[in-house]
Amino acid sequence: MMTKPLVIAIDGASGSGKSSTARGVATRLGLAYLDTGAMYRAVTVAYLDAGVDGADTAAVTDAVVRADIQISTDPAGQWVRVNGRDVTEEIRSQRISSNVSTVAVIPACRENLVARQRAIIEAAPNGIVAEGRDITTVVAPDADVRLLLSADPEIRMARRKLDHGGQIDDAALRDQILRRDADDSTLVNFSTAADGVVSLDGSLLSLDQVIDAVVELAERATSTSSASTSSTGEDKETP
Ligand code: C5P
Repeated sequence: MMTKPLVIAIDGASGSGKSSTARGVATRLGLAYLDTGAMYRAVTVAYLDAGVDGADTAAVTDAVVRADIQISTDPAGQWVRVNGRDVTEEIRSQRISSNVSTVAVIPACRENLVARQRAIIEAAPNGIVAEGRDITTVVAPDADVRLLLSADPEIRMARRKLDHGGQIDDAALRDQILRRDADDSTLVNFSTAADGVVSLDGSLLSLDQVIDAVVELAERATSTSSASTSSTGEDKETP
């Protein structure tokens, strides 16, 4: 019997722990992993490289639509290339973090990236864990598991500081977490869970505990879908 590839969608604000969680879940379950934020960051490099003014929506959109993005879906080895250039490290720079919301608030850019993300999800033979801001609602609303991960802003800022080895000043931290939350939420609601989306506050949980919780949701989703398949079979045999 063919089993349908498992799709796990995880949304959350910056610093909510969604990337580490999604990577951990993908590794445990042998699934692919898609960091959609990395795609928004990669096209930000593309429009900045093209010398486009962020206020020129048409020109930003043009640079985004034309950008060739190659992205790894291996949870053990992440890399991103845009227009043939490896930008794996560059996309994490303050310059990109400060400008990525410019792309994220342009509907035509989102549409273009959503289509590419859906194609990647559909092409994953064993299933995939995809994370971002609109995966549970727009990119993969039919996912087997849909989770909104949250954490207190103070905790998110502390985690992000740790990511930078403590080498980030308070203004940059506030920009990366609070300003970006505010800008990002103009088009996408990722602070309240949509219907059917499980909400999990990871503020007081370890990464392993959050991963355990998602793996349990995935196991439950898999057993529910196989139970409903077999109960359909039983029904057919009942006279
Ligand atoms: O997840 P990460 O913080 O790397 O995402 C970078 C940016 O990409 C976000 O601040 C947001 O502007 C945008 N984004 C988005 N929708 C997604 C993923 C990321 O708008 N699904």
